[in-house]
Amino acid sequence: MIERLCVIGVGLIGGSLARAVREAGFCHEVVGAGRNPENLQTAVDLGVIDRYETDLGKAVAGADMVLVSVPLGAMATVFNSISGHLAEHAVLTDAGSAKGGVIDAARQAFGRVPAHFVPGHPIAGTEQSGVGASFVSLYRGRRVILTPLPETDRHALGRVRDMWTATGAEVIEMDPVHHDAVLAATSHLPHVLAFALVESLTRLSEDGEVIEFAAGGFRDFTRIAACDPVMWRDICLANGDAIQLMIEHFVADLQELTAAIENRDGQQLLDIFMSAKAARDRYVEK
Ligand code: NAP
Repeated sequence: MIERLCVIGVGLIGGSLARAVREAGFCHEVVGAGRNPENLQTAVDLGVIDRYETDLGKAVAGADMVLVSVPLGAMATVFNSISGHLAEHAVLTDAGSAKGGVIDAARQAFGRVPAHFVPGHPIAGTEQSGVGASFVSLYRGRRVILTPLPETDRHALGRVRDMWTATGAEVIEMDPVHHDAVLAATSHLPHVLAFALVESLTRLSEDGEVIEFAAGGFRDFTRIAACDPVMWRDICLANGDAIQLMIEHFVADLQELTAAIENRDGQQLLDIFMSAKAARDRYVEK
Protein backbone atom coordinates (compact mmCIF):
# COMPACT_ATOMS: atom_id res chain seq x y z
CA MET A 1 0.00 0.00 0.00
CA ILE A 2 1.06 3.57 -0.65
CA GLU A 3 0.11 6.05 2.06
CA ARG A 4 0.59 9.24 0.06
CA LEU A 5 1.35 9.21 -3.66
CA CYS A 6 2.58 12.47 -5.15
CA VAL A 7 2.14 12.69 -8.93
CA ILE A 8 4.16 15.51 -10.47
CA GLY A 9 2.65 16.05 -13.93
CA VAL A 10 -0.99 14.97 -13.76
CA GLY A 11 -1.47 14.36 -17.48
CA LEU A 12 -2.25 11.24 -19.50
CA ILE A 13 0.42 9.08 -17.86
CA GLY A 14 0.38 10.43 -14.29
CA GLY A 15 -3.42 10.79 -14.26
CA SER A 16 -3.95 7.23 -15.48
CA LEU A 17 -1.55 5.88 -12.84
CA ALA A 18 -3.39 7.81 -10.12
CA ARG A 19 -6.77 6.54 -11.34
CA ALA A 20 -5.56 2.94 -11.47
CA VAL A 21 -3.94 2.79 -8.02
CA ARG A 22 -6.99 4.44 -6.48
CA GLU A 23 -9.32 1.98 -8.14
CA ALA A 24 -7.12 -0.90 -6.96
CA GLY A 25 -7.35 0.47 -3.40
CA PHE A 26 -3.56 0.58 -3.41
CA CYS A 27 -3.21 4.15 -2.17
CA HIS A 28 -4.70 6.27 0.62
CA GLU A 29 -4.10 9.76 -0.76
CA VAL A 30 -2.98 11.24 -4.08
CA VAL A 31 -1.42 14.69 -4.19
CA GLY A 32 -1.07 16.18 -7.68
CA ALA A 33 1.51 18.76 -8.68
CA GLY A 34 2.22 20.81 -11.78
CA ARG A 35 2.46 24.37 -13.02
CA ASN A 36 -1.12 25.12 -13.93
CA PRO A 37 -3.72 25.26 -11.11
CA GLU A 38 -6.59 25.02 -13.62
CA ASN A 39 -5.33 21.64 -14.91
CA LEU A 40 -4.84 20.45 -11.35
CA GLN A 41 -8.32 21.58 -10.30
CA THR A 42 -9.70 19.61 -13.28
CA ALA A 43 -7.84 16.58 -11.92
CA VAL A 44 -9.51 17.09 -8.53
CA ASP A 45 -12.92 17.52 -10.18
CA LEU A 46 -12.41 14.31 -12.17
CA GLY A 47 -11.55 12.44 -8.97
CA VAL A 48 -8.02 11.68 -10.18
CA ILE A 49 -6.26 13.36 -7.25
CA ASP A 50 -7.37 14.39 -3.75
CA ARG A 51 -5.61 17.75 -3.67
CA TYR A 52 -2.81 19.65 -5.35
CA GLU A 53 0.17 21.91 -4.86
CA THR A 54 1.98 24.07 -7.40
CA ASP A 55 5.01 24.33 -5.11
CA LEU A 56 6.79 21.04 -5.84
CA GLY A 57 8.72 21.08 -2.57
CA LYS A 58 5.46 21.24 -0.63
CA ALA A 59 3.85 18.67 -2.92
CA VAL A 60 6.37 15.92 -2.11
CA ALA A 61 6.45 16.60 1.64
CA GLY A 62 5.30 13.50 3.51
CA ALA A 63 4.78 11.42 0.36
CA ASP A 64 6.06 7.85 0.51
CA MET A 65 5.90 7.47 -3.30
CA VAL A 66 6.63 10.20 -5.87
CA LEU A 67 6.01 9.72 -9.58
CA VAL A 68 7.45 12.32 -11.95
CA SER A 69 5.46 12.20 -15.19
CA VAL A 70 6.33 15.49 -16.90
CA PRO A 71 7.83 15.89 -20.40
CA LEU A 72 11.49 14.80 -20.56
CA GLY A 73 12.67 18.39 -20.99
CA ALA A 74 11.13 19.32 -17.62
CA MET A 75 12.64 16.43 -15.60
CA ALA A 76 15.78 18.34 -14.54
CA THR A 77 13.75 21.35 -13.33
CA VAL A 78 11.44 19.07 -11.34
CA PHE A 79 14.32 17.11 -9.76
CA ASN A 80 16.02 20.37 -8.77
CA SER A 81 12.77 21.64 -7.22
CA ILE A 82 12.19 18.54 -5.09
CA SER A 83 15.81 17.94 -4.09
CA GLY A 84 16.03 18.37 -0.31
CA HIS A 85 12.25 18.10 0.17
CA LEU A 86 11.68 14.35 -0.14
CA ALA A 87 10.83 12.40 3.00
CA GLU A 88 13.60 10.06 4.15
CA HIS A 89 11.56 6.94 3.36
CA ALA A 90 10.19 8.28 0.04
CA VAL A 91 10.61 6.27 -3.15
CA LEU A 92 11.07 8.34 -6.30
CA THR A 93 10.25 7.08 -9.78
CA ASP A 94 9.47 8.52 -13.21
CA ALA A 95 7.66 7.63 -16.41
CA GLY A 96 9.94 9.24 -19.00
CA SER A 97 10.11 7.63 -22.43
CA ALA A 98 13.93 7.65 -22.57
CA LYS A 99 15.99 6.72 -19.51
CA GLY A 100 19.58 7.93 -20.03
CA GLY A 101 18.71 11.64 -19.86
CA VAL A 102 16.42 11.22 -16.84
CA ILE A 103 19.12 9.33 -14.93
CA ASP A 104 21.67 12.07 -15.79
CA ALA A 105 19.21 14.75 -14.65
CA ALA A 106 18.68 12.92 -11.33
CA ARG A 107 22.45 12.56 -10.87
CA GLN A 108 22.96 16.30 -11.38
CA ALA A 109 20.07 17.42 -9.18
CA PHE A 110 20.79 15.10 -6.24
CA GLY A 111 24.59 14.97 -6.54
CA ARG A 112 24.39 11.21 -7.32
CA VAL A 113 21.64 8.88 -8.49
CA PRO A 114 19.68 8.37 -5.27
CA ALA A 115 19.36 4.76 -4.12
CA HIS A 116 15.60 5.27 -3.71
CA PHE A 117 15.19 6.48 -7.31
CA VAL A 118 13.76 3.82 -9.63
CA PRO A 119 13.67 4.92 -13.30
CA GLY A 120 10.66 3.55 -15.16
CA HIS A 121 8.70 3.70 -18.40
CA PRO A 122 5.15 2.44 -18.97
CA ILE A 123 4.81 1.06 -22.51
CA ALA A 124 1.32 2.42 -22.87
CA GLY A 125 -0.19 5.64 -24.09
CA THR A 126 -2.40 7.28 -26.65
CA GLU A 127 -1.97 10.25 -28.95
CA GLN A 128 -3.92 12.38 -26.43
CA SER A 129 -2.44 14.50 -23.63
CA GLY A 130 -3.62 15.99 -20.37
CA VAL A 131 -5.57 14.69 -17.41
CA GLY A 132 -8.82 14.72 -19.42
CA ALA A 133 -7.35 11.98 -21.62
CA SER A 134 -6.31 9.78 -18.67
CA PHE A 135 -8.20 6.57 -18.00
CA VAL A 136 -8.15 3.84 -15.40
CA SER A 137 -7.35 0.89 -17.67
CA LEU A 138 -4.45 2.41 -19.60
CA TYR A 139 -1.89 0.04 -18.06
CA ARG A 140 -4.01 -3.09 -17.85
CA GLY A 141 -2.23 -5.92 -19.68
CA ARG A 142 0.54 -3.54 -20.80
CA ARG A 143 4.21 -3.62 -19.93
CA VAL A 144 6.13 -1.30 -17.65
CA ILE A 145 9.91 -1.31 -17.96
CA LEU A 146 11.94 -0.46 -14.86
CA THR A 147 15.61 0.35 -15.45
CA PRO A 148 17.29 0.10 -12.03
CA LEU A 149 20.99 0.84 -11.61
CA PRO A 150 23.43 -1.20 -9.50
CA GLU A 151 23.01 1.38 -6.71
CA THR A 152 19.18 1.18 -6.76
CA ASP A 153 17.74 0.05 -3.43
CA ARG A 154 16.01 -3.34 -3.84
CA HIS A 155 13.20 -2.39 -1.46
CA ALA A 156 12.47 0.79 -3.47
CA LEU A 157 12.49 -1.28 -6.66
CA GLY A 158 10.00 -3.70 -5.11
CA ARG A 159 7.68 -0.87 -4.08
CA VAL A 160 7.62 0.62 -7.60
CA ARG A 161 7.10 -2.85 -9.06
CA ASP A 162 4.13 -3.39 -6.69
CA MET A 163 2.60 -0.03 -7.63
CA TRP A 164 2.63 -0.80 -11.35
CA THR A 165 1.46 -4.37 -10.79
CA ALA A 166 -1.56 -2.94 -8.95
CA THR A 167 -2.52 -1.09 -12.18
CA GLY A 168 -2.73 -4.43 -14.02
CA ALA A 169 0.60 -4.00 -15.82
CA GLU A 170 3.33 -6.58 -16.29
CA VAL A 171 6.60 -5.22 -14.90
CA ILE A 172 9.93 -6.11 -16.45
CA GLU A 173 13.47 -4.87 -15.82
CA MET A 174 16.00 -3.73 -18.38
CA ASP A 175 19.37 -2.01 -18.51
CA PRO A 176 18.75 1.73 -19.24
CA VAL A 177 21.07 1.87 -22.29
CA HIS A 178 19.42 -1.21 -23.75
CA HIS A 179 15.99 0.31 -23.03
CA ASP A 180 16.86 3.46 -24.97
CA ALA A 181 18.14 1.46 -27.95
CA VAL A 182 15.08 -0.83 -28.02
CA LEU A 183 12.59 2.03 -27.67
CA ALA A 184 14.41 4.05 -30.35
CA ALA A 185 13.61 1.20 -32.73
CA THR A 186 10.09 0.25 -31.70
CA SER A 187 8.59 3.57 -30.63
CA HIS A 188 10.74 6.59 -31.39
CA LEU A 189 11.51 5.74 -35.05
CA PRO A 190 7.81 5.07 -35.94
CA HIS A 191 6.79 8.39 -34.38
CA VAL A 192 9.51 10.30 -36.23
CA LEU A 193 8.43 8.62 -39.48
CA ALA A 194 4.76 9.47 -38.90
CA PHE A 195 5.57 13.14 -38.27
CA ALA A 196 7.94 13.19 -41.26
CA LEU A 197 5.42 11.61 -43.64
CA VAL A 198 2.62 14.02 -42.79
CA GLU A 199 4.98 16.99 -43.04
CA SER A 200 6.42 15.77 -46.34
CA LEU A 201 3.00 15.21 -47.93
CA THR A 202 1.77 18.56 -46.63
CA ARG A 203 4.70 20.29 -48.32
CA LEU A 204 3.82 18.60 -51.62
CA SER A 205 0.77 20.76 -52.15
CA GLU A 206 0.09 24.15 -50.62
CA ASP A 207 -3.68 23.81 -50.98
CA GLY A 208 -3.73 20.54 -48.99
CA GLU A 209 -5.08 18.54 -51.94
CA VAL A 210 -2.84 15.54 -51.25
CA ILE A 211 -4.02 15.17 -47.67
CA GLU A 212 -7.64 15.76 -48.75
CA PHE A 213 -7.53 12.63 -50.90
CA ALA A 214 -5.75 10.53 -48.30
CA ALA A 215 -7.56 7.33 -47.33
CA GLY A 216 -7.47 4.73 -44.55
CA GLY A 217 -3.84 3.76 -45.08
CA PHE A 218 -2.71 7.32 -44.46
CA ARG A 219 -4.92 7.53 -41.38
CA ASP A 220 -3.56 4.26 -39.95
CA PHE A 221 0.06 5.11 -40.66
CA THR A 222 -0.13 8.64 -39.28
CA ARG A 223 -2.34 8.29 -36.16
CA ILE A 224 0.69 8.90 -33.95
CA ALA A 225 1.57 12.14 -35.76
CA ALA A 226 -1.27 13.59 -33.64
CA CYS A 227 0.89 13.11 -30.51
CA ASP A 228 2.13 16.04 -28.46
CA PRO A 229 4.95 17.78 -30.41
CA VAL A 230 6.64 18.99 -27.20
CA MET A 231 6.84 15.46 -25.83
CA TRP A 232 8.31 14.17 -29.08
CA ARG A 233 10.79 17.03 -29.43
CA ASP A 234 12.01 16.15 -25.93
CA ILE A 235 12.28 12.43 -26.73
CA CYS A 236 14.30 13.17 -29.89
CA LEU A 237 16.63 15.43 -27.93
CA ALA A 238 16.96 13.02 -24.99
CA ASN A 239 17.54 9.87 -27.05
CA GLY A 240 19.11 11.52 -30.10
CA ASP A 241 22.06 9.14 -30.61
CA ALA A 242 19.96 5.98 -30.56
CA ILE A 243 17.25 7.52 -32.75
CA GLN A 244 19.81 8.79 -35.25
CA LEU A 245 21.27 5.28 -35.56
CA MET A 246 17.80 3.86 -36.22
CA ILE A 247 17.05 6.53 -38.83
CA GLU A 248 20.33 5.73 -40.63
CA HIS A 249 19.50 2.03 -40.56
CA PHE A 250 16.00 2.76 -41.90
CA VAL A 251 17.27 5.07 -44.66
CA ALA A 252 19.64 2.31 -45.85
CA ASP A 253 16.70 -0.13 -46.06
CA LEU A 254 14.57 2.48 -47.82
CA GLN A 255 17.35 2.96 -50.37
CA GLU A 256 17.33 -0.79 -51.02
CA LEU A 257 13.59 -0.59 -51.61
CA THR A 258 14.02 2.47 -53.84
CA ALA A 259 16.60 0.59 -55.91
CA ALA A 260 14.21 -2.36 -56.33
CA ILE A 261 11.53 0.03 -57.61
CA GLU A 262 14.02 1.80 -59.87
CA ASN A 263 15.14 -1.56 -61.32
CA ARG A 264 11.52 -2.74 -61.62
CA ASP A 265 12.66 -5.77 -59.59
CA GLY A 266 9.28 -7.29 -58.80
CA GLN A 267 10.79 -10.32 -57.09
CA GLN A 268 12.81 -8.24 -54.64
CA LEU A 269 9.78 -6.07 -53.88
CA LEU A 270 7.67 -9.16 -53.28
CA ASP A 271 10.36 -10.67 -51.02
CA ILE A 272 10.54 -7.50 -48.89
CA PHE A 273 6.76 -7.06 -48.68
CA MET A 274 6.12 -10.76 -47.89
CA SER A 275 8.75 -10.77 -45.17
CA ALA A 276 7.30 -7.55 -43.68
CA LYS A 277 3.72 -8.86 -43.85
CA ALA A 278 4.71 -12.12 -42.11
CA ALA A 279 6.45 -10.17 -39.34
CA ARG A 280 3.45 -7.85 -38.92
CA ASP A 281 1.01 -10.83 -38.82
CA ARG A 282 3.14 -12.54 -36.17
CA TYR A 283 3.19 -9.33 -34.11
CA VAL A 284 -0.59 -8.90 -34.25
CA GLU A 285 -1.21 -12.57 -33.36
CA LYS A 286 1.09 -12.25 -30.34
P1 NAP B 1 0.92 15.18 -20.62
O1 NAP B 1 -0.39 14.52 -20.74
O2 NAP B 1 1.20 16.40 -21.41
O3 NAP B 1 1.19 15.50 -19.08
C1 NAP B 1 2.36 16.14 -18.66
C2 NAP B 1 2.06 16.89 -17.39
O4 NAP B 1 3.26 17.49 -16.92
C3 NAP B 1 1.01 17.98 -17.54
O5 NAP B 1 -0.01 17.71 -16.62
C4 NAP B 1 1.76 19.28 -17.21
O6 NAP B 1 0.87 20.06 -16.43
C5 NAP B 1 2.95 18.79 -16.40
N1 NAP B 1 4.16 19.60 -16.59
C6 NAP B 1 4.72 19.98 -17.74
N2 NAP B 1 5.85 20.67 -17.49
C7 NAP B 1 5.97 20.74 -16.14
C8 NAP B 1 6.92 21.33 -15.26
N3 NAP B 1 7.97 22.02 -15.73
N4 NAP B 1 6.73 21.20 -13.93
C9 NAP B 1 5.68 20.51 -13.45
N5 NAP B 1 4.73 19.94 -14.23
C10 NAP B 1 4.90 20.04 -15.57
O7 NAP B 1 2.12 14.15 -20.97
P2 NAP B 1 2.12 12.57 -20.80
O8 NAP B 1 1.73 11.96 -22.10
O9 NAP B 1 1.40 12.20 -19.57
O10 NAP B 1 3.70 12.28 -20.66
C11 NAP B 1 4.35 12.45 -19.42
C12 NAP B 1 5.66 11.66 -19.42
O11 NAP B 1 5.37 10.30 -19.68
C13 NAP B 1 6.68 12.12 -20.46
O12 NAP B 1 7.96 12.08 -19.88
C14 NAP B 1 6.58 11.06 -21.53
O13 NAP B 1 7.83 10.88 -22.18
C15 NAP B 1 6.17 9.83 -20.76
N6 NAP B 1 5.39 8.85 -21.49
C16 NAP B 1 4.39 9.24 -22.32
C17 NAP B 1 3.65 8.28 -23.01
C18 NAP B 1 2.54 8.65 -23.95
O14 NAP B 1 2.17 7.85 -24.81
N7 NAP B 1 1.96 9.82 -23.82
C19 NAP B 1 3.93 6.92 -22.81
C20 NAP B 1 4.92 6.56 -21.91
C21 NAP B 1 5.66 7.52 -21.26
P3 NAP B 1 1.01 21.65 -16.37
O15 NAP B 1 1.02 22.14 -17.77
O16 NAP B 1 -0.19 22.05 -15.60
O17 NAP B 1 2.27 21.92 -15.63
